[in-house]
Amino acid sequence: MKILVINAGSSSLKFQLIDMDDESVKAKGLVERIGIEGTHFKQTVTEGNKVIEFTRNMADHTEAISAVLAALTDKENGAIASLDEIGACGHRVLHGGETFKASALVTDESMKEIEALVPLGPLHQRPNIAGIRACQEVMPGKPNVAVFDTAFHQTMPPKAYLYGVPYEYYTNLKVRRYGFHGTSHRFIAGEVPKYLGKKPEDCKFIICHLGNGSSLSAIVGGKVVDTSMGLTPLEGILMGTRSGDVDPAVLEYIMDNTGMDIHEMLNTLNKKSGFAGLSCSSDMRDVKAAAAKGDAQAKAALEVWTYRLQKYIGAYNVAVGGADAIVFTAGIGENDVDACADVISGLGFMGVKIDPAKNKRGVAGIISTDDSTIKVLRIPTNEELPIARDTLEIVSKL
Ligand code: AMP
Repeated sequence: MKILVINAGSSSLKFQLIDMDDESVKAKGLVERIGIEGTHFKQTVTEGNKVIEFTRNMADHTEAISAVLAALTDKENGAIASLDEIGACGHRVLHGGETFKASALVTDESMKEIEALVPLGPLHQRPNIAGIRACQEVMPGKPNVAVFDTAFHQTMPPKAYLYGVPYEYYTNLKVRRYGFHGTSHRFIAGEVPKYLGKKPEDCKFIICHLGNGSSLSAIVGGKVVDTSMGLTPLEGILMGTRSGDVDPAVLEYIMDNTGMDIHEMLNTLNKKSGFAGLSCSSDMRDVKAAAAKGDAQAKAALEVWTYRLQKYIGAYNVAVGGADAIVFTAGIGENDVDACADVISGLGFMGVKIDPAKNKRGVAGIISTDDSTIKVLRIPTNEELPIARDTLEIVSKL
């Protein structure tokens, strides 16, 4: 069966067509600037590296999904002969709240619950819902499955997910820590035991998903016991444009002194902070290049990023009760071998050591020395495959 994986953002839509017989990617693509002048479409079909690319205004996600299906079935440069070959669609959905502890078939009932969670993450949940609705409209009768960014973290105990605020905010408003990047953390958590040569239930490790958005998770016996993002993806370590942890009183102080309202303030913390706020760019490569030329702010930003990450790793070593492994993944974790080495150098006093000969870009495996007290791994993540796997599992039971 082939599964179409959809990741719909506010003005973009990423897709992959995965053949579940061998879990190979048949085609993938990106639609950008949906609802904005100059919508851009690009699809690459794996076999023959065939590309369809064009710019044509698309008003909404339904038009974008129609364009995806037309491109997938294109006679010359498509990936499939007909839409019948697509067995189901799997959708990345930001928030499952406490309702969804696992992926779910989209039904009228589950859609109501997904919609009820919009207030917890309106910027992402609304487009995620639009993506599902678009598939329902363009491919009536085709099953849709929702895979939640938060679901894998639902095993966290109350001591990890409760904020120290009046309890009624939790009971009445569901204010608590949820965590995100769940498909990535789940994929990596499934891979790590293979490298350690142990059963999943015997492993304790820390996953560092370091991309533009970044989060850590503490895993014991295959389950999340803590993760660094909170009610929203703003909490945690320093990110590309997000501040990570901030004293909440900072908000009032800045707002009083600048006249910003809470929406502008949150927009600043989400989109203009992190690397972008402290230095010249949200992109690690730019920050590194500026630091290499002597830019003091870029150097400071890198030091903040490294130090905060080291502190979180220290904390999560406690959370798991002594880690077997620390794992790096996502854009920075997979590619920036020096940044990973810098982070681990701060753990040298604990006997954790990177082997420079093994610390290679994009290569999966153990990158620590044989005598390192905690193994260090680099594993490329895959955020689409868990969505396709869950979708297949759920639709196979229909
Ligand atoms: P992601 O969100 O997972 O796509 O990761 C994006 C981040 O990975 C950006 O900060 C990039 O600068 C960073 N990144 C990607 N490739 C490299 C590289 N070769 N060296 C350093 N950072 C990289």
